[in-house]
Amino acid sequence: MEDRGFDLEDRLATLEESDLKRSLSPVDRVAERGYFAPPSGGELPVLDADEALVFASNNYLGLTDDQRIQDAARQAAATVGTGAGASRLVTGDTLVHRDLERLLAETKGTDRALAFSSGYAANLGTITALAPDVIFSDEYNHASIIDGCRLAGAETVVYSHCDAESLRSKLRERAAIADEDESWLIVTDSVFSMDGTVAPLGAICDAAEDHGAWVMVDEAHATGLYANGGGVVQAEGLADRVDVQMGTLSKALASQGGYVAGSDDLIECLCNDARSFVFSTGLAPTAAAAASEALHVARHSDVRERLWENVAHLRDGLESMGFRVLGDSQILPVVVGDRGDALALAEGIRERDVVAPAIRPPTVPEGTSRIRVAPMATHDHDDIVTCLEAFRAAGDEVGLL
Ligand code: PMP
Repeated sequence: MEDRGFDLEDRLATLEESDLKRSLSPVDRVAERGYFAPPSGGELPVLDADEALVFASNNYLGLTDDQRIQDAARQAAATVGTGAGASRLVTGDTLVHRDLERLLAETKGTDRALAFSSGYAANLGTITALAPDVIFSDEYNHASIIDGCRLAGAETVVYSHCDAESLRSKLRERAAIADEDESWLIVTDSVFSMDGTVAPLGAICDAAEDHGAWVMVDEAHATGLYANGGGVVQAEGLADRVDVQMGTLSKALASQGGYVAGSDDLIECLCNDARSFVFSTGLAPTAAAAASEALHVARHSDVRERLWENVAHLRDGLESMGFRVLGDSQILPVVVGDRGDALALAEGIRERDVVAPAIRPPTVPEGTSRIRVAPMATHDHDDIVTCLEAFRAAGDEVGLL
């Protein structure tokens, strides 16, 4: 079998030989810029619902409201500063960043992690840095993956959504004509934001291993929620079989920024070749501190269980009314079909103080317009009941039930 992965060790050795290798400074040098211990403990927040209940946010754990996380950001601003002031490789590196990266790597079961200024930048930087010859990409992958594939100039082969057999057949087709030294990257979201579907990661890893390809998983909608907070890769025990795990700090982790987790060599390569890392100001320390604290809260409190209880309550309620709810995750897309009906349903629930948007073509295929419902951990039992009542009344009004 061919090895279609990426020889990062060799790349790093070449950089080293020509005195071109960049690395982040040793941690004791970073320590000179100051350090703080993130605060922990305290009560979980409740949703402040003065005007309307939001059932459409990616703030899945409701932690943007949390005092502990706000305190962590405030403390970082006071001790390290509000901005990094430069690229991490120049003078923008702080122990707040290192603390976040250490916690992410530990949570994700990898050697190391690297923080980017956004998830978008992480996808663009990582895919272009690896520079694969061929990328196998799920048809519903996020725009930042699609843009990364384009910018990398790779030949992109699109396989059917969450379909490991379709992937296998594309891999076989390509293997029949591929050069021996062609490098291959399979890339997929783990949780798909518009469909709520979860990629069959085990079967994708099996297919990758049969062909020597690498696997990259975008955990933007799973980080902080699945398993110990690591994501679907952790939930399925695949940390050793997935080469690149990335995600965002801007959804369940209540902050801003992105990350990549993987081997030592991967992170070293990204420090050299991921242009969105090298040539971009380091993540704001306030954002890094908030994300660290949010990950700590996600891992060490019952906030995730509260989200999953709300998800189960809402899904059961909507389905028992007769709504068709897609997916198998915390995202509950209520499929209506017609775009006008979807708009009318969204308006009907809004009149009843519940906010969840209609998603229409071209974002989703024609005839599958939907309301994307996303409960949060901070919704209480009455909030879920209010949401269900709004759907029943508006669904009756629009003639959907
Ligand atoms: N990947 C996925 C699957 C996403 O949904 C998003 C955000 N919508 C991103 C990447 C980009 O993350 P960020 O918002 O941090 O740029």
